[in-house]
Amino acid sequence: MPGTADAKDSGNLEDPALSTQSYTRHLERRLRALETERQILQAERSRLEKETQTLRTELEKLRQSPLITATIIEMLDDGRAIVKSSTGPNFVVHVASSIPRERLQPGMRVALNQRSFAVTQELPPSRDPMIRAMEIEEAPDVSYADIGGLREQLQEIRETVELPLLKPEVFETVGIEPPRGVLLTGPPGTGKTLSARAVAHETNATFIRVIGSELVQKFIGEGARLVREIFMLAKEKAPTIIFIDELDAVGAQRLDIATSGDREVQRTLMQLLSELDGFESRGQVAVLGATNRPDILDPALLRPGRFDRIIEFPLPDDESRREIFRIHLRGMNVKESLDLDDVVVATKGRTGADIKAICTEAGMFAIRDGRDEVTQEDFRLAIRKVAERQKSESAPAGIYG
Ligand code: ATP
Repeated sequence: MPGTADAKDSGNLEDPALSTQSYTRHLERRLRALETERQILQAERSRLEKETQTLRTELEKLRQSPLITATIIEMLDDGRAIVKSSTGPNFVVHVASSIPRERLQPGMRVALNQRSFAVTQELPPSRDPMIRAMEIEEAPDVSYADIGGLREQLQEIRETVELPLLKPEVFETVGIEPPRGVLLTGPPGTGKTLSARAVAHETNATFIRVIGSELVQKFIGEGARLVREIFMLAKEKAPTIIFIDELDAVGAQRLDIATSGDREVQRTLMQLLSELDGFESRGQVAVLGATNRPDILDPALLRPGRFDRIIEFPLPDDESRREIFRIHLRGMNVKESLDLDDVVVATKGRTGADIKAICTEAGMFAIRDGRDEVTQEDFRLAIRKVAERQKSESAPAGIYG
C-alpha cells in the first residue's frame, strides 16, 4: 500500500523537501506502472472483442439452415427454373433476383433455399468427381517422332483431327463438314492413347483423357452430369482433344435393359450422343474414342456425325517394332554390339507397350548386375520375363484375343 509506505518514509526522513521529492518520484513510478497496465488491458480488451466478433459470425453461420444443391434443367420464359434437386425430384422454382437470369444455364449447379426451394446461389461446377474420371494435360509432351510405325494411322488422324483444329477454313472452303468423332480400335498397348496425345501436342491442344468405365457412376444421373461437365470444360479450354478410353464401357450395345445400373449406363450414353450431336464449336473440340471391342459398340455411336471414322491399330510388324525399339532405346546406354534384328524377331506378336516394358526390364537386369551398359543377354531375359508375366496375367480376351 503506498499510503503505509509513505508514512514509513516520512517518519524515517528528517528533511521534508527530500521526503516530498521521493514521494513525487514514487507517484510517477506508480503512474507509469498504471499506464503500462492500462495499455496491456486495452490490448487484451480489443483482442477479446475481436474473438467475440469471430465467434458471433461463426455462430451465425452455424445457425443458418442448409441449402439444397440442384442442377438447372431448363430456364422458363417467366423467369422460373426447372431444377433437379440432389435429393431426387424435379421442381419448378423461383430464382432470387440477386442472380442475373442470363447467368443461369441448363446444367449449372445451384443452391436452393430449404423452404421455398428458390434458387439462391450459383455454385461453381464440381470438379472433384471428374478428377476420378479424367486426366487433363495442357499440350502433352509426346510428338509424332515418339511413335514407331503407325504411319497410315497417323496420316488419317492428322487429316481427321489435326486439320479441322488447325485449319477449319479448309473445310469451309470446300463446303464439307469435318469428321466429328474418330474411333481408334485395336489391342491394348498398340499406341492409341500415345497417338491421341501426340496430336494434342502438335495442335497445341488441351488433352482430356476420360476412362469409359469411370464415367459409369454408381449414382443415378452422375455419369450423364460428368459427360456434360467434361464437354463444358473442353469448350472452356479449347482447342481440346477429348480422348475416351474404354468407350465400350459406356457404349456397349444393350439388348434389354434389366437393372438400374444398365439404365444409368444408357443415360450416360444418351448424354454422350447428345453432346456429340450438339457440337457447335466443332472445329475447336475433337473427340476420339478408343476400344478393343468395336464389335459390341452400340450402332448409335457409329452413325454419321458421331464416331464415323474408324482407325484400326494393328500389332506392329517387324519394321514397326524396329522403329519402336529405336525410339525406346534412344536414351538407353546399350552395348554397341547389340543385334537389333535378333531382338525384333524375338518380339513377334508383341505390342508397343510390351516393347517399352522389355526395354525397361533389360535396363533393370543390367542395373542388377552392376553394369552401366545393357547387353543382348539382358534383352533376351527381358523378353522372356515380359512374355511370362503376360501369360500369368489372364488378359481379357476381346476380339483381339
Ligand atoms: P490401351 O488400349 O490399353 O489404352 P493403347 O493402345 O492406348 O492401350 P498406349 O497407352 O498408347 O496404348 O501405349 C502404352 C505405351 O506403349 C506408350 O506410352 C508407349 O510408351 C508405348 N507404345 C505403344 N505403341 C507405341 C508406338 N507405336 N511407338 C512407340 N511407343 C509405343
